[in-house]
Amino acid sequence: MITKFIKRILRRDPMDRHTQANQTSAPKRVSKKIHRIDPHLLSKNAVKVTDTLQQAGYEAFIVGGAVRDLALGIGPKDFDVATNATPDQVQKLFRKARLIGRRFQIVHVTFFGKGAPEIIEVSTFRALLDNAGDHVAENGRILRDNVWGSQHEDAARRDFSINAMYYDPSTETVLDYHGGMADMQKKTLRMIGDPAKRYREDPIRMLRAIRFAAKTGFTLDPATSAPIAKLGSLIHDVPAARLFDEILKLLMSGYSWAAIQGLRDAGLHHGLLPLLDHILDTKPDSKGANDFVRLALANTDQRIQSGKSVSAGFLFATLLWPDLLKNWQGNIANGMSNIPALHDAMDDTIATQSSGMTIQRRFESDMREIWSMQPRFEKRVGRYPFRLIESPRFRAGYDFMLLRCATGEQAPALGEWWTSFIAADPAGQEALMASAKTELGNNQSHSPAKKRRRRKPKTVSPVEDMPG
Ligand code: ATP
Ligand code: MG
Repeated sequence: MITKFIKRILRRDPMDRHTQANQTSAPKRVSKKIHRIDPHLLSKNAVKVTDTLQQAGYEAFIVGGAVRDLALGIGPKDFDVATNATPDQVQKLFRKARLIGRRFQIVHVTFFGKGAPEIIEVSTFRALLDNAGDHVAENGRILRDNVWGSQHEDAARRDFSINAMYYDPSTETVLDYHGGMADMQKKTLRMIGDPAKRYREDPIRMLRAIRFAAKTGFTLDPATSAPIAKLGSLIHDVPAARLFDEILKLLMSGYSWAAIQGLRDAGLHHGLLPLLDHILDTKPDSKGANDFVRLALANTDQRIQSGKSVSAGFLFATLLWPDLLKNWQGNIANGMSNIPALHDAMDDTIATQSSGMTIQRRFESDMREIWSMQPRFEKRVGRYPFRLIESPRFRAGYDFMLLRCATGEQAPALGEWWTSFIAADPAGQEALMASAKTELGNNQSHSPAKKRRRRKPKTVSPVEDMPG
């Protein structure tokens, strides 16, 4: 303890001058009795990072969303650490530490354990920017922010009061600079500083407000929500990749349905995903395409809340499915045959979407695979089912098909058939295929459309050529 103190006194680094500033605006120290953070919810690796930094004489805290979640009694999905050590100083203390970012460097400290490696993100306290000078664009957006600062400044540049608390695992104390703990108790989400100015600096904060309100169930403070109606359109100035990341976070938050309602209430959804416009502009109880999306989102939320993984490609495939279906049916009505009509519709749907928020390529190929698998589920004879099962993305395609059965867009019997087929032994699979054949035969005797198609095997052949 004494060595720690002496080291702190002796250390001379650019942060020292800011330590003085800190004292003039002291944070509230919140004890364990009040914050009730359960140390069992802490990541051991995050604690290793704060301990190591503190033993080297620096200040170090768990910060941001992790403290918010801990105070809510939720195990955080990742841990960020804030310190007064510079990135170089941090890097020297850890074996697996990598400097990330050009504009403002942070350090990723990686720990390897039984499961996936854990990355603790360590950032140096950042300075506040004044509104003058070359950091701020004409519309108020921050362009450059790469200056280190004091802890007090670091707190002031964060977004919401509940995201600006610093937890020291060694003393189990929370440093609360902006009344975050009181807001937690009042279940209020409050922007630090002048909300309109903060939204202008970074319009993404409007989306964050909606996401956190959905996640925590907190209410936006009136002064925090008021400017959103007027400033909502600034979201379109945000670079597409960043906007995409934020929307993805929102959809993968485990509270996507609530968050999407929040976007609608705030009038923020227009132009983000054309499909969101569509679902959100129709009444919640109206039937149709929305059922599919609603079910898909509820399903995603449930999976995430129970700790299961969800692929973003799958999620976007569901969100755009009603559009795709419409285009697909339209193409068929215009005389195209089934499979080319589907592929043409996929191109159309993705192109229309890209006029709003561009979906990244890596997800696009997942979406295409999931979609193009759908007609293949109807072919339940010969080698078709075995080929389909071997597709690398079969599981996603199958889950997607089950969703279609659940909304009645596909016959529930089809989903049941596949569920049995996956579980069956070879003899069982033969029997299932035989039953499907009979079903097909019966249908054909009643269905002129299918009879016609049988005489022209060419219309079916593209199925075999489709990527798996
Ligand atoms: P989660 O990780 O659960 O989505 P989070 O609050 O940790 O939530 P991050 O994006 O990981 O969100 O950011 C970490 C912290 O950085 C936030 O808690 C907040 O203090 C700060 N922060 C992030 N984005 C912004 C922003 N756009 N404006 C101001 N502060 C921000
Ligand atoms: Mg986080």
